[in-house]
Formats: sequence, C-alpha cells, structure tokens
Amino acid sequence: MSGASTAVVIGGGIAGPVAAMALQRAGIEATVFEAYDARADGVGGALSIAPNGRTALAAIDADHVIERVGTPMAAMVMQSWTGKRLAELGTPAHLPPMRLVWRAELYRGLYDEVARRGIRIEHGKRLTAVDGNEARFADGSSATADVIIGADGIRSTVRRIIDPAAPAPRYTGLLGFGARTGGAGLAATGDKMHMVFGKRAFFGYQITPAEAGWFANLPHREPMSAAEVRAIGAEAWLERLADVFRDDRCPAVALIRRTSPEDLVITGAMEDIPSVPTWHRGPVVLIGDAAHPTSPSSGQGASLAIESAVQLARCLRDLPRDEAFAAYERLRRERVERIIRMAERTNSDKAAGPVARVLRDLLMPVAMRLLANSEKWAWQFDHPIDWNSPVRPVA
Ligand SMILES: Cc1cc2nc3c(=O)[nH]c(=O)nc-3n(C[C@H](O)[C@H](O)[C@H](O)COP(=O)(O)OP(=O)(O)OC[C@H]3O[C@@H](n4cnc5c(N)ncnc54)[C@H](O)[C@@H]3O)c2cc1C
Repeated sequence: MSGASTAVVIGGGIAGPVAAMALQRAGIEATVFEAYDARADGVGGALSIAPNGRTALAAIDADHVIERVGTPMAAMVMQSWTGKRLAELGTPAHLPPMRLVWRAELYRGLYDEVARRGIRIEHGKRLTAVDGNEARFADGSSATADVIIGADGIRSTVRRIIDPAAPAPRYTGLLGFGARTGGAGLAATGDKMHMVFGKRAFFGYQITPAEAGWFANLPHREPMSAAEVRAIGAEAWLERLADVFRDDRCPAVALIRRTSPEDLVITGAMEDIPSVPTWHRGPVVLIGDAAHPTSPSSGQGASLAIESAVQLARCLRDLPRDEAFAAYERLRRERVERIIRMAERTNSDKAAGPVARVLRDLLMPVAMRLLANSEKWAWQFDHPIDWNSPVRPVA
C-alpha cells in the first residue's frame, strides 16, 4: 500500500519525464518542474540508449519513444589507432538493440509522450529550496506534494539540499566534443559504432550515407568549466582535434574537417561521482544523474536514469514512503555504482599518457577479446524490470 498520492519532480531531462509517466502508472499524480524556459529542442549531442534502458521504458509501455528517434546500434567495433580491429562488442540477441539517439529528438519524443498521457511539465521553474513537502522556485512560486523527486542532473540542487556535504562532481581527465555532419563519400559503418583508442585521444563514429555522428574524448590534465572550454571557440577546437587525430587510421580527421564550427557540440569536462552517500531524506529522493552520475564513457547514464525512475515508481506504488525509498535504494545502488566503476576504468584507458599508452596498446587486444565474449560485458544489459511484481520492503 502506497503512502504517496502526489509527486513533484524537479528536472525535465530524461529521468524526470520518465518518472512522471511511471508514477502515473503507479497511481501517483506527478508534475515536472524544469528550470529552463523552453523545451530542450536545441540541446545537441548524441547518446546511446542501452537495451536495459529500453526494457525499462517498455515496462511502462514507452519504448516506442526510442523506436521513433535515432538509429539502431547493433554493436561497437573497438579499434586501435593503427586501424587494428580489437573486438566487436554486441548486445545479447534476446534483448532490444542499443539505439543511438540525438538528445534533442529524445527530449522531444519524451515530452510528446508525457503530454499525450496528460502529464504537466512546467518550464522556467528553477528549484532553489525545499521546506518539508514544499518545493520553492526562483520565481517565487512553490509546489507541494507527498514526495519531492530530484531528477535535476549531475549538478543537482536537490542533492545539495538533502546533504550539504555531498561530494561534488569529479573530473575524469577528459574533455568531450561531438557533432552531426554529412556522411557522403565516407565508408559507411552501417549500424555499428566504431570506437578508436587513438594515439592521443579517443574517437567514436557511426557513418551512414545520409549522415555521420562523431564524438571525441580529449585528455586534458586541468579541469575546465563548460564556459572556459566554449570561450576557446569551436574553430580553434576543431583545429586542435584535427591535429590530435592526425596519426590515427580512421576517418576522424575527415569527419572533423567536414564539421562546421556552429555544429560542434562542446560538452566540456566529463565528470562522475563514484558514490552519492545520501539518496533520500524525509519526503525527498534522488534519481538519475542526481543520484548516480556516471561519466559518458559508460554509455549507460540515460538508461540507468530510466531504470531508476521506473523502479522508484514501483516502490512508491507498493510501500509507504520511507520503506519505498529504502527498497528503491536497495534495488539500485549496487548496480549503478558497479557501472560507474566500469566507466572509470575505461576513462583511464582513454586518458592514458605516453607510457601507459604503450602498455594499454599491448594489453588491449587480449582484454577486448575477453570482454567481447564474457558476462563482464553483457550483465549490464540484461536487467529486466517486472513492473507487475510487488516490491518487498527491506528486511
Ligand atoms: C557528452 C555526454 C555524452 C553522454 N553520452 C551518453 C550515452 O551515450 N549514453 C547514456 O546513456 N548517457 C550518456 N550521457 C549521460 C546522460 O546524458 C545522463 O546520464 C542523463 O542525461 C541523465 O538524465 P537525468 O534526467 O538524470 O539528468 P539530465 O538529463 O541532466 O536532466 C536534468 C534536468 O534538470 C534540470 N535542472 C537542473 N537543475 C534544476 C533546478 N534547480 N530546478 C529545476 N530543474 C533543474 C536541467 O535543466 C535538466 O533539464 C552523456 C552525457 C554527456 C555529458
């Protein structure tokens, strides 16, 4: 029996809208409050939705949102900078394939589905404080509900409110860039994403005759804020990236050269938090990057955000509030922190200095072959959520 019948969801990124849909399914009325004024249609960059993210969406009959946007990504082909193919990492055949989606299209799809289900998203509502069951916004307005859900991303205000000592995001030693450009004239990769451990940086690309998407992770010792990275200018970064990938046997330079500066998505410092100690306090609880921010290298941030949103709704459906929050944390913490650790190891391979790189290049072929054929890779994808089965309280 649930103790909650209303929810305020802070953040209209990925976790927030999915939580609102899942809560509605659980019989809890939710409203989403997003800081930005307009829908995030202009937000750039691509991300992969893993089979487990799709399975979680399917649990609330929303996987069609993913089907309508993006392209299938059947596997990731890992390469060394010499052009050597190290491994092909696919997903288990019984699961839906990974999908590469453009963030703006994903947001649009989610928002349309949320609207279709009659759920409200209020824009221009930046949360500044929580007082008991009341969320207060910068414009002077407030909203009250039985539970307040912090889905406000890696720089979560809600996290800081429930635990002022919560750790700050940790810099991974990598800066992120990406773009969408034309694919004509380049060898198509079809439905496979190619990932290159370059001589000086890491490069990912997928090319079809219609279009190409690429991203780069550039080792950079000093952390830089997004504003500092952007201040250098897209043109200068494109020049730098073309130079960084000059020795690598892959189409990195060709793709960078055909990217116009206004199309470059500058993400800036890639960050994570290995463990957020406090996930809930009183009526307030965290989901998505607010609770478990993993670096982009996991390819799992969005999928884990979706999983957590759905699992939290299940727990609130079946248990009184405090028991629901405890059960939610028990269901989620170990899994998400394991994935954050996996991404951390990938980041140190990507950011390897000249000496470590020699060792990495020697060991990588064996490591990749082992990974491709092992549970060490597949376990993260095979994570069904049985929406209909009741959640039991923590003993
Ligand atoms: C470059 C890059 C590449 C990535 N690639 C992948 C990938 O391939 N696969 C993958 O799964 N993940 C990827 N990720 C991670 C993924 O984007 C995140 O894990 C995911 O967006 C988390 O969703 P979320 O809803 O928790 O947070 P977000 O998507 O960050 O949404 C948080 C929302 O809260 C709003 N907000 C913030 N503060 C407030 C406030 N005070 N009041 C109200 N609203 C507020 C924000 O405006 C935002 O809309 C990538 C991330 C980056 C940066």
